[in-house]
Amino acid sequence: SRLKSGLTKTREVLNTDINDLFKSSRKIDDALFEELEEVLITADLGMDITMEMMDRIRKKAGRLSTADQLKAVLKQELIALFPGKEDPETVPALPRPHIIMVVGVNGTGKTTTLGKLATRFTRENKKVLIAAADTFRAAAIEQVGIWADRAGATIVRHKQGADPAAVAYDGVEAAMARGMDVLLIDTAGRLHTQKNLMEELKKIKRTVEKKMPGAPHEVLMVLDATTGQNAISQAKMFHEAVNLTQLALTKLDGTAKGGIVAAVAGTLHLPIRYIGVGESMDDLQEFDAVRFVNALFD
Ligand code: GDP
Repeated sequence: SRLKSGLTKTREVLNTDINDLFKSSRKIDDALFEELEEVLITADLGMDITMEMMDRIRKKAGRLSTADQLKAVLKQELIALFPGKEDPETVPALPRPHIIMVVGVNGTGKTTTLGKLATRFTRENKKVLIAAADTFRAAAIEQVGIWADRAGATIVRHKQGADPAAVAYDGVEAAMARGMDVLLIDTAGRLHTQKNLMEELKKIKRTVEKKMPGAPHEVLMVLDATTGQNAISQAKMFHEAVNLTQLALTKLDGTAKGGIVAAVAGTLHLPIRYIGVGESMDDLQEFDAVRFVNALFD
């Protein structure tokens, strides 16, 4: 599958080491646990999450007699790191327009992800509007414009240097007036003026809220999986400023440290909604913990 091939690098690290651990001849003992711990840390699961998981696994170890059973417990524990999926029966109908504010540091794949999302929604016959509220870079406005054309989405844009909150406001107004199903708000991701950026994002969010109470309905942060534990500290900073509701993790195909997905979920307790496992359109996938963990090990 695409997911499996996108995770090749992580699978290589995990499987060479882990298959050795889970050979049927292996005794379940302390040496095995120590090696397992090391593999998980190598895959960038993070020290804290690894330790917590190993604790739980050790507690269950008494009841395990084969390495296969241990592998099953490991998979269960990994899956348990992810917040449970909402029951589709209880998910309320989407508000219209459904407003998604997309945030993230430049270079993480924010524009690409936003563009792929726009494409996904228009393919579902939804009317999509994009507000180009990263007014800091002319190139960003242009890039978003290209994605909008490609996706068949409408775009609201101002000139470079314009007030990003004003673009977002116009976006909400236009989305309401034109009966759009989805509004995607692109935002700046420059890090060298971190403080200003956080203020800018807060102002965008406030403005959107004012124009449409309850909005934005999602604040989606895009994180680059190849930046490892750095992604977690970035997410914490953005979460503090604008209260993230979901995450997208890109470039998993470019890293052997795919364990970062579990580390992010386990540390931030935020749902991972999408993962990127390559550059093509179909490489932005809806994240599913069970599929993900199975793709890693099977
Ligand atoms: P932005 O600055 O955050 O808006 O970043 P871009 O959207 O321009 O993406 C930066 C680069 O990352 C581009 O070359 C994208 O094609 C690439 N990219 C984004 N997502 C993925 C992914 O899942 N896998 C790979 N290999 N590349 C990706």
